[in-house]
Amino acid sequence: MPEEKNITCIGCPMGCAVTLTIDDDRKVTSITGYKCKEGQKYALAEYKNPVRTLTATVLTQNSSQRLLAVRTTAPIPKTKLLPGIMALAEVRAKPPIKMGDVVISNLLDTGVDVVATSGLLF
Ligand code: SF4
Repeated sequence: MPEEKNITCIGCPMGCAVTLTIDDDRKVTSITGYKCKEGQKYALAEYKNPVRTLTATVLTQNSSQRLLAVRTTAPIPKTKLLPGIMALAEVRAKPPIKMGDVVISNLLDTGVDVVATSGLLF
């Protein structure tokens, strides 16, 4: 029996409500509700392989009270978000740190780095 999946497009402030119809083989048979091709593309990607940019903080070596804001340089699969957070929990960044410094290279073999979003002198 076909199933419907509703996805709100985030491509612009219109926030179109896109509906995918999915058959028993998990194939998308129709997409409706989008007002431009971006919405169609976004809804398909969100269904097949949803990705998000991971933003978090990591501890620094000098003090457990001092946190460094970090983010991935590109979106990663949603399934890697929690493992990514766990990997970041192990990090103790060593100052001095400049904005853009790599904190973790190739996070969980995603090909995406985690970088500092601010600097820390000491
Ligand atoms: S489908 Fe197009 S018009 Fe609608 S929210 Fe997405 S980008 Fe905006």
